[in-house]
Amino acid sequence: MPKTLFDKVWDRHIVVTETDAHPATLYIDLHLIHEVTSPQAFTVLRERGLKVRRPDRTLATIDHSTPTLINTDGSRPFVTKQAGKQVEMLLANTAEHGIETHGWESAYRGVVHVMGPELGATQPGMTIVCGDSHTSTHGAFGAIAFGIGTTQVGHVLANQSILMRKPKTMAIEVNGELQAGVTPKDVILAIIAKIGVGGGTGYALEYRGNVFSEMSMDGRMTVCNMSIEAGARCGMIAPDETTFNYLKGRKFAPENYDAACADWASLATDDGADFDKVVTMKAEDIRPMITYGTHPGMAMPIDAMVPVATDDTETAALEYMQVTGGAPMTGLRVDRVFIGSCTNARIEDMRAAASILSGRKVASHVKAIVVPGSEQIKAEAEAEGLHDVIIASGAEWREPGCSMCIAMNGDKAAPGELVVSTSNRNFAGRQGPGARTVLASPETAAAAAVMGVITDARTLKGAAA
Ligand code: SF4
Repeated sequence: MPKTLFDKVWDRHIVVTETDAHPATLYIDLHLIHEVTSPQAFTVLRERGLKVRRPDRTLATIDHSTPTLINTDGSRPFVTKQAGKQVEMLLANTAEHGIETHGWESAYRGVVHVMGPELGATQPGMTIVCGDSHTSTHGAFGAIAFGIGTTQVGHVLANQSILMRKPKTMAIEVNGELQAGVTPKDVILAIIAKIGVGGGTGYALEYRGNVFSEMSMDGRMTVCNMSIEAGARCGMIAPDETTFNYLKGRKFAPENYDAACADWASLATDDGADFDKVVTMKAEDIRPMITYGTHPGMAMPIDAMVPVATDDTETAALEYMQVTGGAPMTGLRVDRVFIGSCTNARIEDMRAAASILSGRKVASHVKAIVVPGSEQIKAEAEAEGLHDVIIASGAEWREPGCSMCIAMNGDKAAPGELVVSTSNRNFAGRQGPGARTVLASPETAAAAAVMGVITDARTLKGAAA
């Protein structure tokens, strides 16, 4: 019986089979934790006298509340005492339970969905959970990876498994040749615009076709990262040579690597396997994308006109964003630019941003910050001199962390400010109360920074700086 990638990984992890009366019990290979959604879970463990079941399958970092600036005396300016306390508690809890933790001193500290793959902790065929919605990122390696709530974080710490109903499967097939200037962020925004923010609800997505098989791991992570924005449980891409080459030599890579790769290769969806739903798109039809509303499904080609609202919800979204149906997004004045997050803060994103910023100056009325996804990326970018390019443009080069993606650490926009952001959510207030977020690729964000208005980055590429 031909099976999908999802079915193969799912079947390997069933502890108790699902029935009408109860969900399946699924074994979890890797539990990623950070300072925001874990403290309460550890408190519950303590109250109940429980230990962490598999500290060796648990990996911690600090990212959400961490400052992206350092004081001249080396101290970290936490936005609130509570933010600092969250970090202290994470470090204390993981030390108590013997969990590998990438804190201030680690060369691997970073956004949880960036540092896990960098360590090679994320591997094909795994089940991976984290108390963060964008855990779907790890599906880029052919893992079933999804976000869980704080209560479930406690469950997984205590028993290394989770209760879950099996989702249906959806193939998203994109074949053909992408146009110049179209990035992985544009591909996933185009997919979400097509299927809608609820289009993936109840499904595990598998991204298929030459567009994904030819994509780098950085690009695949960008795509899978935003699966949750279509409502999907997870998003996956079949592991292949690109995956194996990425993981080779990383800290947690298996010792018998060739045997591991052979096993991982067998996970690909079999010919003839059925998906519950198939969505197809032509690569040639995708253009650089930008959002105009208050969820990632309200996205359009950057050279298109904002759709006219057809109901009260859309009207309210356009009013919040202060945009007009039938008018372009290009030319709108930008107040801030954020290049970062687990969607777009990897080395290719840093290079893409620097390629636009190089030789140009950030517009005087724009505050632009570039926040690498991890210490590894920061070091790699600095070794390449990208930070010099970024700083010379007038953008700020910050310390790794989630930063303005979720604005928990004090990096946020003022009410009414328009932010062009490479992150994953443009909900009202996500980047500060009253802040207006426009999601886009690093190229588009950098173009907005230097032009001071929303700009099609294709008009700058190849143009004199
Ligand atoms: S960058 Fe944003 S989405 Fe990613 S882990 Fe941090 S808060 Fe979550």
